[in-house]
Amino acid sequence: MNPRVTQILVVDGSEVARTIVTRIFAEELPHARITLCGTGQEAITCMRSQHFDLISTALMLPDMDGLDLSRQIRDDHIHQYTPIIVVSGNADERLLREGFAAGVTDYFDKALGYQAFAVFLRDFTRRNCGLVGRILYVEDSATVAAQTIRLMERHGLQVQHTTNAEDALDILLTKSLGPDRNTGVDIVVTDFYLKGHLTGGDLLHAIRVKLRLSQQEMPVLVITATEPGDARQAEVFHAGANDFVSKPIIEEVLLARIRSLLLIKQQFNALKAQTEEMHQLAITDSLTGVRNKRYLLDNGEQFIADRRKQPVAAMLLDIDHFKKINDNYGHITGDRILEELGRLLISNLRDDTLVIRFGGEEFAVLIPRCGPDEAHRRAESLRAQVESLRPAGYPITISIGLASTASLTTPSLTQLLTLADRALYAAKARGRNQVCA
Ligand code: GH3
Ligand code: MG
Ligand code: MG
Ligand code: MG
Repeated sequence: MNPRVTQILVVDGSEVARTIVTRIFAEELPHARITLCGTGQEAITCMRSQHFDLISTALMLPDMDGLDLSRQIRDDHIHQYTPIIVVSGNADERLLREGFAAGVTDYFDKALGYQAFAVFLRDFTRRNCGLVGRILYVEDSATVAAQTIRLMERHGLQVQHTTNAEDALDILLTKSLGPDRNTGVDIVVTDFYLKGHLTGGDLLHAIRVKLRLSQQEMPVLVITATEPGDARQAEVFHAGANDFVSKPIIEEVLLARIRSLLLIKQQFNALKAQTEEMHQLAITDSLTGVRNKRYLLDNGEQFIADRRKQPVAAMLLDIDHFKKINDNYGHITGDRILEELGRLLISNLRDDTLVIRFGGEEFAVLIPRCGPDEAHRRAESLRAQVESLRPAGYPITISIGLASTASLTTPSLTQLLTLADRALYAAKARGRNQVCA
């Protein structure tokens, strides 16, 4: 809710209607201060001495027409852009025809009932409520900047200001270098003509081409001094702007444009988060939380071929007599045991290690920069930890087979896993609960 929408003017000739409308306003906007007027003239007098953030009027007032009141409100420059809601019982058609020209922002048909009015108000205030977002604002004129920053901040926006395109670019560049390319900026608002070496157009070009930030990922609003119909407007769009506003800046117009660009950015963020979540789901084994076999097949070959990861140690790890565990304690207990083992593997191995559920109760582990001796030590430590783990309250043991890329001239994933599997087989044959290389 916009903390600024506090002053509300309700104009209605009927006391009953005023009471009901006021009650709904008070419920929907508990922080609002409501002023009541019974006639248009009273309302006009009131508006001379006070600024309102929202005005609601009946269509027919005892002394004048509600649309005439609306026209007069629009002529008063203090309330030129204040939202006006007309609450009426019967005049939809006239409102449709004349309401917009008369300056009416929205209207509500009383026939729908007051419950619906509450819903309408909630919807209306959501559309017109305070903004949440981080703006990178580039403006070389100190006076314009001070004014615009104040305006944006008053509506809840966080503003980071630079006086030239170079500094703005630096900010975006430094912050976008992280793995998630998060710039910490939701939208850029820039003057088109800047004094520095680069213009707003150059900044746009750099954002789109050099930083490869799309119009969805980094919406840019350009502020220009162009007149409507000016050919430079097209230039602004060619340069990659999402939208522009002309100087002198009209508060409501700037806010409406920022609002719609923030929406684009929010949708982009939501889509990105969703895509990332889907990706995680697609590569994770749901029971154990480790990577699934599909991930190994897609990435394993590249993993073991990576020169920076040499030598890579491979472990195949299999729970001993797991069939018996299932038979004795039930399948659900078996699942819980697998779950706990998965957690142990994730928490005990380095972050750069790849842990995969390779088969039912069999896990594959690829450890980068790990020679055979170190691999043996790690495997032995893992075996001992599992022995004392007692997942789901039952004792289990594992057998581990080891292989290393160091023992292969041109290692392939298949070769490496075949060697590890042979070693695992040997560990089982030698009596289980042990490590074999
Ligand atoms: P060994 O020591 O030779 O490995 O004996 P084992 O019984 O562990 O080996 P085997 O391969 O014969 O049996 C594996 C068992 O693992 C059979 C299967 O029911 C069980 N299993 C496989 N996937 C799951 C699972 O997701 N949940 C549960 N509860 N059991 C599973
Ligand atoms: Mg087996
Ligand atoms: Mg087994
Ligand atoms: Mg097995």
